Amino acid sequence: MITWGAMINTGETVLKDDGILPSCTQRQNLCGYACCKFTAGNGIMLLSGEHEQAVQQGLKAAHLSFDANHSHAVCHKPCQQGDLKQIDCSWYPLFPANLSATQFLVADHRKCPIPNHELIDKMHSVYTTALAWEQQHTGSLEQMVKLSRDFVGYLPFPYKLEAGLVLNMTLEEMQLIALTKQLPTDYVCSDWTIRLHGVNHA
Ligand code: SF4
Ligand code: SF4
Repeated sequence: MITWGAMINTGETVLKDDGILPSCTQRQNLCGYACCKFTAGNGIMLLSGEHEQAVQQGLKAAHLSFDANHSHAVCHKPCQQGDLKQIDCSWYPLFPANLSATQFLVADHRKCPIPNHELIDKMHSVYTTALAWEQQHTGSLEQMVKLSRDFVGYLPFPYKLEAGLVLNMTLEEMQLIALTKQLPTDYVCSDWTIRLHGVNHA
């Protein structure tokens, strides 16, 4: 039996970031670590070159199963210190949605309960790491944005970065990055330990 207790000593990414966010740790008793469970056919995206870098750094990966290209993984138990935590995990619930990493997708709040306004700092860190990765691995942002079009259960994040400022996305901009596949309207995340109605997503 795997225990998903408080994830204090999590793994770290190849960029030496654990991605821990107080807004997340405060809500883990509610969501039951829904983002770390892979029962619904979802998975973790690895960025180009990420697995090779993890091997070079000696990060352990026994908690993961990879596809043949090491571009996707699923996770079987909580990562711990010394384990690989994918950059995608450290970004969650955000993901870059455009080639300049200034617009984002956010996981459906029926899956991740962190309200959007508590994700603004994370938006800055996703922007910084996505651009740093692009500098080391040219074309990786284009590939991430392209592959993310098939994600299920992500919505347009209502904030963007422009000239260093945080601005509201316009309706047209939100429509341009919206994905075609959504969770069903009656979706209820089976991993959540508490059923909440009317969660505030603002
Ligand atoms: S679903 Fe959201 S709140 Fe829950 S563990 Fe994952 S990131 Fe944190
Ligand atoms: S590797 Fe990712 S999915 Fe697995 S426990 Fe760590 S944060 Fe969760």
